Amino acid sequence: MDKLVYASDLDQTLIFSRRFLDAHPSEGDFVCVERRNDTDLSYMDREVQTNLKRLAEDSRVVFIPVTTRDLMRYNRVELWQGAALEYAIVSNGGFILHNGNPIPEWSEIVTAGIDHTMRKEITRYFETKFKTRSTEVEFVDSIFLLCKIDDVFEFDAAVAELDEMYYDWQFERQGHKCLAIPANVTKGSALKWLCENKLNPQCVVTSGDGVLDLQMLRYGDYAFIPDTSPLRPENVQVAVGGARSALKTMDFIEKKLEEILP
Ligand SMILES: [Mg+2]
Repeated sequence: MDKLVYASDLDQTLIFSRRFLDAHPSEGDFVCVERRNDTDLSYMDREVQTNLKRLAEDSRVVFIPVTTRDLMRYNRVELWQGAALEYAIVSNGGFILHNGNPIPEWSEIVTAGIDHTMRKEITRYFETKFKTRSTEVEFVDSIFLLCKIDDVFEFDAAVAELDEMYYDWQFERQGHKCLAIPANVTKGSALKWLCENKLNPQCVVTSGDGVLDLQMLRYGDYAFIPDTSPLRPENVQVAVGGARSALKTMDFIEKKLEEILP
């Protein structure tokens, strides 16, 4: 298909918390793109928003937000007013949404790969070894485990043991949130399946800032990481500009489009 796929992580790549913006001051005019009740939670630079909307509406481009957020937290984000995106990858690859609904073929592949005996063991491990903030370990979207812990070092010290005991799972910490994700559920595997089975694009551009983005970054023909990320993976270009670094990625995409799909 004569299309360019632009698959991008959301948090810390396109959208940012107030705390992040305070820690990484940036020029620009940041508008709220996520609210819970009356509280503003996430922001996007207005110029990034304008350019992204233009790209997403370009018939040569398929823009795909790719996030570890679960369905509920993904649905809270409105990248621009009335944004209706054909595809999205959420729950770290657990769901591929098409017009807002999970593609059943992919969900079947994901569900079949989850080992529930292991899942229960890991839940017990989390509950007994960590002082959890919330009383329960949540089985988010029936795909991955999430719990909030008090002492983050407890988790960091246990990761090597967890990796060894449950090698079919990936363990990640985001602040006080600890995640256990089946190894087959990745942003990269979902994007690859979507591209190979539905989109068959001519070119794939990916961007992301975190460890959970690495596989997706490797899958891209061209990949970008914001300069605010501490990671420097091979064959991935660093996009400068902090919370406005998506402008660099999109500049690249505009040029690529003129070159391959004029
Ligand atoms: Mg991120």
